[in-house]
Amino acid sequence: MWKFKDTVLCISLMKEGMDSHGYVDVYRYPHSHKCFMFFKIREMRTKVNLDPDAVLATQYSASQPDVSYESIWKCEQRKRQLQFKDKPLPPLPPEAFEDYTNKPRVIALCDFFARGPLDLPLKKSEEYIILEKYDPLWWRARDRHGNEGLIPRNYVTENKKSNLETYKWYCRNINRSQAELLLRQKPKEGAFVVRDSSRQGLLTLSMYSRAKGSHNGDILHYHIKQNHLGLYYVAENYLFSSVPELIEYHQHNAAGLITRLRYPVGSDGCTSAENTGLSYEEWGLNPSELLLLKELGRGQFGVVYLGKWKETIKVAIKTINEGAMSEDDFIEEAKLMMKLSHPKLVQLYGVCTHHKPLYVVTEFMENGCLLNYLRQRRGKLSRDVLLSMCQDVCEGMEYLERNGFIHRDLAARNCLVNVEHVVKVSDFGMARYVIDDQYISSSGAKFPVKWSSPEVFHFKKYSSKSDVWSFGVLMWEVFTEGKMPFETKSNAEVVREISQGNRLYRPHLASLPVYKVMYSCWHEKPEGRPTFAELTVTLRDLTEMT
Ligand code: ADP
Repeated sequence: MWKFKDTVLCISLMKEGMDSHGYVDVYRYPHSHKCFMFFKIREMRTKVNLDPDAVLATQYSASQPDVSYESIWKCEQRKRQLQFKDKPLPPLPPEAFEDYTNKPRVIALCDFFARGPLDLPLKKSEEYIILEKYDPLWWRARDRHGNEGLIPRNYVTENKKSNLETYKWYCRNINRSQAELLLRQKPKEGAFVVRDSSRQGLLTLSMYSRAKGSHNGDILHYHIKQNHLGLYYVAENYLFSSVPELIEYHQHNAAGLITRLRYPVGSDGCTSAENTGLSYEEWGLNPSELLLLKELGRGQFGVVYLGKWKETIKVAIKTINEGAMSEDDFIEEAKLMMKLSHPKLVQLYGVCTHHKPLYVVTEFMENGCLLNYLRQRRGKLSRDVLLSMCQDVCEGMEYLERNGFIHRDLAARNCLVNVEHVVKVSDFGMARYVIDDQYISSSGAKFPVKWSSPEVFHFKKYSSKSDVWSFGVLMWEVFTEGKMPFETKSNAEVVREISQGNRLYRPHLASLPVYKVMYSCWHEKPEGRPTFAELTVTLRDLTEMT
């Protein structure tokens, strides 16, 4: 039957003298309904303004595949009526010609501004149809108004309910510390983000809350787990068949969480078009999201800048000069260092591994390095303040000790002070990646002999206990308001003094109990020195006494 009707239709159209417009081709494939319609309409597009009647006939058949001989007849009747009216019909909407139902649909992750006539601009959260995967980086797409053009493929994501990237609360490319940074930017009760966990295949829900009563608020990280039936949960009694359903439920009910999820903290999720296709490692940072603003200082590795991440968040960006660092070893270690997170440690946010020079991005500390801070405020800092600075450093070091991480270059110059005058330990572990003989060799001019324990300057034997020695010297720097230990003595003289059992004198701002604490750090044998855990308790007791 079909065949017969097709044939009739085609013959009928040909009878109208349209064979010159290509219908013969259509006639060759009467079995294929899809092909038949497609070709016929394509030809009609060119015909629209020339022969409106033919359009009418074809339009009818296009929308009514089960076309009958009677309908063709009716069309012909109508055509004859129209012959008396010379008003042209309006052009057909493009949708009438193409079948988009099976084309992939995507949603824009962020705005994209067309940079040439071939580009199609994108608006965040709007839907687009993908017409052609033009090349691995650029796709041809169509917007809802029928405009077509090329788009960068990493600006869009499949528009499916199950695709997490379509949700504002999902940030694929951030790690724990970056999540904390985002949540603390506008610390609102119940602000939350869902990110890929450091454990492969798992998701983590990170949220901000003041419910526990802490002044700065807490960031809590919950793994989103699956039970044996594959159902998702954060709190075991509340199970869901998908993560979006879980989030939606907890947006209305705390149900086991510290508070309900109130504010999704979005990140725009886009990498730049220039970097389309570059795969950033999970913990890496995208350099196009970083802006260098002004120089803060110069260090062992290169210039340090104040910068912005994602246009809003202030960060410090250390640029690493060519040849100044064992980069590959550092990049490997940075993955671990980023997991170290404590209020008294300068947080490492990430490293731009695909960028030269290498960028090391850390928490920005408004008041700069502790040594300069002390020197600039000589005579203005009370003993209590000096003690609380030592306490800050000790707490950060206690965390490193607990995690088996050795600093190797603890000194006032390697601590930083933030806007709230909190002192934090910086540059932990970095000494291992310095390429500079003067710094590495214990006889080199830059080797920090004055902060080093005997086992370090003799045998380079580092431990948390050698960090404790350095901490004693740092306490001395704090209580002298930034004096140079052993003043103008050379490194060789310092080694001789220490080996003879001499130690740094008591600064006049240090009470006897305070001096006893620093002195205890300078025991010749590592085992004779206190741990940071013990020092934290001792310093706390001292603060409470004053
Ligand atoms: P390095 O340890 O590589 O020798 P530093 O970390 O000491 O270099 O950086 C040099 C200077 O840059 C510091 O003295 C300080 O003034 C500034 N600086 C470094 N990191 C930060 C930061 N996170 N926030 C603010 N200033 C910083």
